[in-house]
Amino acid sequence: MTLRLYDTLSRSPRAFEPADPGHVRMYTCGPTVYDRAHIGNFRTFTWEDLLRRYLEWKGWRVTQVMNLTDVDDKTIHAAVERGLTLEEVTEPVIAGFFEDWETLGLEPAEHHPRATEHVAEMIELVETLEEKGYCYEADGSVYFAIGRFPDYGRLARLDPESLRSAGRASGDEEYSKDDPRDFVLWKGGERAEEGDVATWDSPWGPGRPGWHLECSVLAMEYLGPTLDIHTGGVDNIFPHHTNEIAQSEAATGRTFARFWLHAAHLLVEGAKMSKSEGNYFTVPDLVERGHRPSAIRYLLLSAHYRSQLNFTVEGLEQADRALDRIDELGVRLAVAPDRDGGPEASGAPGDASPDPLARAAERARAAFEAALDDDLAVSGALAAVFEFVRDANAVLDSGGGSAAARKAARGFLDDFDAVFGVLSLREGERIAVPAETERWLEQRIAERRRARSEGDFERADAIRDEVAARGFVLEDTPTGTRWKLPGSGAGSAAGVAVPDGGSSPAAGGERDDMD
Ligand code: AMP
Ligand code: ZN
Repeated sequence: MTLRLYDTLSRSPRAFEPADPGHVRMYTCGPTVYDRAHIGNFRTFTWEDLLRRYLEWKGWRVTQVMNLTDVDDKTIHAAVERGLTLEEVTEPVIAGFFEDWETLGLEPAEHHPRATEHVAEMIELVETLEEKGYCYEADGSVYFAIGRFPDYGRLARLDPESLRSAGRASGDEEYSKDDPRDFVLWKGGERAEEGDVATWDSPWGPGRPGWHLECSVLAMEYLGPTLDIHTGGVDNIFPHHTNEIAQSEAATGRTFARFWLHAAHLLVEGAKMSKSEGNYFTVPDLVERGHRPSAIRYLLLSAHYRSQLNFTVEGLEQADRALDRIDELGVRLAVAPDRDGGPEASGAPGDASPDPLARAAERARAAFEAALDDDLAVSGALAAVFEFVRDANAVLDSGGGSAAARKAARGFLDDFDAVFGVLSLREGERIAVPAETERWLEQRIAERRRARSEGDFERADAIRDEVAARGFVLEDTPTGTRWKLPGSGAGSAAGVAVPDGGSSPAAGGERDDMD
């Protein structure tokens, strides 16, 4: 089936095929590493991971490049303000970024180049543009003359009027540019005054690269002059990607990216989640509050990438419950008694199999792929998954489901997981409760039992609340009390029941770099 992706440049869904058969070259704008990325940034990164995984699932090899913007106004300001070197600011932020990347189960990109490692190539690109007459020097800085690039602004559908106001809004009209709309390629002279922290020699004197230049150079360095897909958040359309197109295409004379894809923002109470608004959460913020990474990942992926998504804790809890339903079916399929032997035993895809479970899996897989082929329509894909969960549970409830059909059913859950990456992430979380926390939970259970046996129910309830505040649930069962993560079903992280009479365990935004 044909994958169609909505291309911002043509404002329409177009059939996707990589230029080089079998191999997709994809560039994804990375974080500015002056402070920990928030889950808004990770909405975009996680969607890019879904796109990557889906391309792989369709059978293509993917080479993904995600840069690390480790030199720009923000990183430099942070270093100057805190009296640190640039690396002292960026290194710990980069480490935190990769921690969160792993926590959310993102597949590693093939290349994560840092801007500071490729300044020589950036200077070369500016020299090429200079030779071709697209730029000019003023006071030690070099500017791209947008009037010399006829197609300028097509990505953002900018008309000359809005461009004029955008030029004013960039806040650098005090610099001596020929036209306020021109953007900076190389920041030198007074634009690099904080330069001690990050300066490179260049033909125009000491300075540093502009942000847009970084991405053009890193993309072409690793992927060649033409990318299949370039992505980012919608805030990148102008000026960042608009300027990337101008400088790359002016330099090479070739199309820079065949498809431009942009993700809408993650919002908090209707406003873009951003550092400058202070309305943000990081991955560790949420994990420390007891939320599971798989639920965070699922929530971030649960809305179509071109729709805004409002972040709420309630939404996170719903995501957790939704995942439990899928997870529980996986456990059920694994433990269901073997009913092999009948004519329904075949579950191979394509068979006109009479087994309703195998048929449900086939139907679900086709609907899942059709939805994702339609510009990654996750709501349709998830609807197919939940319809399957309902149908499969009904078959199992009525005692049906041959071993082969269960395998086909499991196969569909594996397809879902290959693209969404949430079940395997959850699997890892089952064993992720540290031993120390486990001991603490067991102590709480023992103490609560004591309180109850003494008739002190107020104390018993207070202990339950104390445990809940750390993100766990106490569940009373006929064989005693056990702890578990909220909403977790059979097989999820859970403590062994402590029998009532038994021995108790040992006490123990955002960016102002617009030009
Ligand atoms: P930055 O670190 O600001 O360069 O942003 C890194 C990536 O996160 C870019 O692709 C941005 O478009 C994206 N981004 C920033 N804020 C949000 C948000 N609230 N929701 C979704 N994506 C965002
Ligand atoms: Zn970029």
